[in-house]
Amino acid sequence: MYDVIVIGSGVAGSVVARKLAEEGKKHVLVLERRTHVAGNCFDKFDEDDVLVHVYGPHIFHTNDEGVYEYFSRFAKWHMFRHEVVAKVGDQLIPVPFNLNTLHMIYGKEKADALEQKLIKEYGQGSRVPIMKLMENQDQDIQEIAKYVHDNIFLKYTMKQWGQTPEEISPEVTGRVPVVISYDNGYFKDEYQGVPVGGFTLMFQKMLNHPNIEIRVGVDALEEMSFEEDGTICFEKKEFKGDVIYTGALDELFELKYGRLPYRSLDFKFEHFDKEDYQGHAVVNYTVSEDFTRITEFKYLTGQEDVKGTTIVKEYPFAYEGKEGQIPYYAILNEDNLAQYAKYVEESKKFKKFRLLGRLAEYKYYNIDAMARKALDMADEIMGEE
Ligand code: UDP
Repeated sequence: MYDVIVIGSGVAGSVVARKLAEEGKKHVLVLERRTHVAGNCFDKFDEDDVLVHVYGPHIFHTNDEGVYEYFSRFAKWHMFRHEVVAKVGDQLIPVPFNLNTLHMIYGKEKADALEQKLIKEYGQGSRVPIMKLMENQDQDIQEIAKYVHDNIFLKYTMKQWGQTPEEISPEVTGRVPVVISYDNGYFKDEYQGVPVGGFTLMFQKMLNHPNIEIRVGVDALEEMSFEEDGTICFEKKEFKGDVIYTGALDELFELKYGRLPYRSLDFKFEHFDKEDYQGHAVVNYTVSEDFTRITEFKYLTGQEDVKGTTIVKEYPFAYEGKEGQIPYYAILNEDNLAQYAKYVEESKKFKKFRLLGRLAEYKYYNIDAMARKALDMADEIMGEE
């Protein structure tokens, strides 16, 4: 009856399901454990009618025209260039640290001289990871690197990861480089924005296809069985079609090699009966407070037809797999990747079984890279016939 079962309806699951259903003409069943689609991109109108991102702020940004066009079939965009500021003492300074930030921190004469040095060293417009900047032996550059490390990365990273910037994967801090230009943009991608009406609406449209059946509130690991001999069963019968799994890989094997480590977040939402709370979409708290950042949704979604404003504060903690906890961020280090590799090895016994997504691949994906991978996977499956 079904050609493909997709487990999970987040970015990965929704994109791969649509493409296989539409272009591949396959009958796709999507099983979603949560009561909604869109994964962690899920957004909704709260009780005060403010559009909020339930699992933290998500902004689509890409240079991949194919992905942008694919998503644009299902959404109009509220295009905006995302900017972030960090609260350091009484100041709100632009992040990533850039030449504007430099001039806010230092007096004109010193900032001018440092600017020249940075340009000479790295080139106008370059983007230098903080860990790389710290390797530079020049005293002036060391001073800047120390400022950025201590005021932007150290405490935020301790909160977010429970580890110092030196201890975590450089790929993670490298997401927010020091920028040698006057661009305050958080991302440098050509296309940036959020879908008008929300991400959920966009994914609902994507999943709305005659060849797709979606079941929400259904735990695939209960409806399906993954046998020792490599067979996969659905509704007690062997399923011979393709299975795309976007869930946590350790859960598929009942944690037999131990639980994969993740960071989780607690979200505290607050509504205020005033027009404005912080005047910015996102303020990072890089030296004080227990939360990492505050998002004020109206500045991110562009919503105008609403009274008051809703914010969310993010409190990170170590994921333990307890009821209600959500694994958001894989902790990328050698031990964890080795542990993950054991699960991958084990999963190879299943034929026509593929892993896709932040959880299943134990990776730190952006939305666009995830969508690209899902589109390519659909092509690969269609090409096998
Ligand atoms: N980071 C930081 N201070 C900041 C912003 C980012 O220390 O003001 C570090 C931190 O370790 C964080 C990583 O850079 O986890 C990546 O930040 P990004 O904003 O990309 O994280 P996401 O939005 O994916 O949670």
